[in-house]
Amino acid sequence: MEGAQLAIRLLNDRGYWVFVVTNQAGVARGYYEEADVQRLHRWINAELGKSGAQVDQFYYCPHHPEFDRDCDCRKPKPGMLLQAMKEWPIDLPGSFLIGDKSTDLEAAEHANITGHMFRSGDLHAAVAQVIGQNQID
Ligand SMILES: [Zn+2]
Repeated sequence: MEGAQLAIRLLNDRGYWVFVVTNQAGVARGYYEEADVQRLHRWINAELGKSGAQVDQFYYCPHHPEFDRDCDCRKPKPGMLLQAMKEWPIDLPGSFLIGDKSTDLEAAEHANITGHMFRSGDLHAAVAQVIGQNQID
């Protein structure tokens, strides 16, 4: 996605922790394995590392209610966000979630953090706007 690496680098530089919270029901459906999801996440961080950016932690939900079981982590449930809040000393009022689906924003709402919809465009510009930096360099 355009601007993704710069967006994450900006957040890193500004002292934000960056988390990915992603539904990966393809695991429950048997399309791929959890090891594949983890490999993808390592690859993402390796690629980000080339521009000095990093995701601090990935959280994924491998479940789907129709294929294995109901769970507390599949968005719009807030389980992955609550897990991150348990594992990291997160400043909730200063935190936000960016997602491309209404279920993302619902998860944010359930976890009491601000959600922002972002479907297309320049993610770096969008993130800069969210964190109040209007001068984009
Ligand atoms: Zn789950």
